[in-house]
Amino acid sequence: MVNLKINNIPVTCPEGSTILEAARLAHIEIPTLCFLKNVACVGSCRMCLVEATGARGLVAACVYPVAEGMEVHTNTPKCRKSRKVTLELLLSKHKKKCLSCERAGNCELQRLSVEYNADEDRFEGANPSFPIDDCNPSVVRDNEKCINCMRCVAACKKQHVGAIGPIGRGFNVHIGSAGGMTLAESSCVGCGQCIVACPVGALTIKSDEAKVQAALEDPAKKVVFFTAPSVRATLGEAFGLPVGTNVEGKMVAAIRRLGDCEVFNMDVTADLTIMEEANELLDRIQKGGTLPMFTSCCPGWVRFIEQHHPDMIPHLSTCKSPQEMFGGLLKSYYCETHGIDPEDLFVVSVIPCTAKKYECARPEMGGEVNVALTTRELAHMIKTAAIKFCDLPDEAFDDPFATCSGGGTIFGATGGVMEAALRVAAKKLDGKFEVVDFPEVRGTSPIKEATYSVGGKRVRVAVASGLENAETVIQAIKSGEKQYDFVEIMACPGGCVNGGGQPSLPDSIRNSVELRDERAKALYTSDKKNTLRRSDESPVMEVLYRDYFGSPNSHKAHEVLHTSYKPNPRV
Ligand code: SF4
Ligand code: SF4
Ligand code: SF4
Repeated sequence: MVNLKINNIPVTCPEGSTILEAARLAHIEIPTLCFLKNVACVGSCRMCLVEATGARGLVAACVYPVAEGMEVHTNTPKCRKSRKVTLELLLSKHKKKCLSCERAGNCELQRLSVEYNADEDRFEGANPSFPIDDCNPSVVRDNEKCINCMRCVAACKKQHVGAIGPIGRGFNVHIGSAGGMTLAESSCVGCGQCIVACPVGALTIKSDEAKVQAALEDPAKKVVFFTAPSVRATLGEAFGLPVGTNVEGKMVAAIRRLGDCEVFNMDVTADLTIMEEANELLDRIQKGGTLPMFTSCCPGWVRFIEQHHPDMIPHLSTCKSPQEMFGGLLKSYYCETHGIDPEDLFVVSVIPCTAKKYECARPEMGGEVNVALTTRELAHMIKTAAIKFCDLPDEAFDDPFATCSGGGTIFGATGGVMEAALRVAAKKLDGKFEVVDFPEVRGTSPIKEATYSVGGKRVRVAVASGLENAETVIQAIKSGEKQYDFVEIMACPGGCVNGGGQPSLPDSIRNSVELRDERAKALYTSDKKNTLRRSDESPVMEVLYRDYFGSPNSHKAHEVLHTSYKPNPRV
């Protein structure tokens, strides 16, 4: 341990800590723009400059290591002046559209400029002009708002995609893809982790709010929404509620107040995915099919396989994601049983995920989901409609797609799909198997492994989230170092609770709260409270298989609930 003083306050911290880490232990805030916990630490923005004994001049607290007896001062006139000038230089070439910017009120540059009295007009910059890149179905980039902090580059590199990087030199440096490609032409998988990392409004979600609004106002359309498991665990954050607050009832009530519509629970098709996927796994194990089987409910992951490991496509489960299963179910079973022309049904999926915007446009999906609306977009629509979210009563989902099992709910966290599938597979292999909790696959460790023995069979599983970890698992499988039967991968670190479409929170919260754990807790608490823990216990599953699909993996089920993939190599 190392002893030092920061602003005259004694601090003890582990050797090797940075000044920033030591300061946070003492609850001393040092401003940052490029630093983001678990993502980026490059010391490039120079906002965290501090004075420290033994150092020549100001040093960047995010990368400078502590030393025994060091004295650090974070708030001297020299530090404050340096930060103010840094902000004024950034503002000199920043497109200052603060009044209409999506990040207004939630922008790190704006917040710090106010705190340091920065004058946005002090320096007249050359203001290079860049076209807005909005060709990608998930992400929009406006480089005129970019402050070159490199957080997005670090986030994309951490995803083992590397679709973006710094282009050009000196004053002309800007973020882009190799060879001047648009983001749509690049190897981007649409995960949105770069949007989550961006401290300003340079990267935003491609908005589909106008399409939803138009459908709600069209008397010829019947509009149905369904909401993904993790949205209820995060939507409240956009309205100032604490991280990890489950707002399921208020979320349903708010959507109903947007216009004439029905609101269904996507946990239902999470259950349906498990019914199909668990049976597909057992089939592959018993009949010698391709193993390990990979989950396929994350479109960022599916795209990563199609682009980077097309030889592994046979390992992907043929099950559609819960979003696309719901689209298929609504445009077939629901329309048939309710006498609706599928053309008149407008289907809105509310999801934590920017990659699902790309997924619903895939030709294989037949356009069954009309719009994939992220949590952030839904929150914005609720605000635009002047709905007082926090004052709303709790309301229940609409039948016939209201009731789900706890297994469907935990889909939103890393390990959730695996656990839900294990609950069903174990029961099928061994009728007496009563265990419903599989703690080995829970939590946010990068890669989790477990071996279970059920019904006389050994089932080896692995769970990874974040594509960097997915790549590690793939390489271990390809080299023969690891043998698994079933592998769950989620593209976003921590799973969908940390998806690219989730509310963007200030750095002060993101650097101090374990968002993924807190959000996941809300889902596991809901699972625990549910009297139905296994997907096959859901009465909705009973009705669907009795009246429509016959049995899991039936011909009808394959028509509506399964899909195929194709190689799509990218550099
Ligand atoms: S969406 Fe994901 S893959 Fe695409 S640029 Fe951003 S971080 Fe990279
Ligand atoms: S796009 Fe955003 S995250 Fe990326 S370098 Fe620019 S400001 Fe930073
Ligand atoms: S982990 Fe979830 S939010 Fe992230 S890309 Fe996959 S499905 Fe989307």
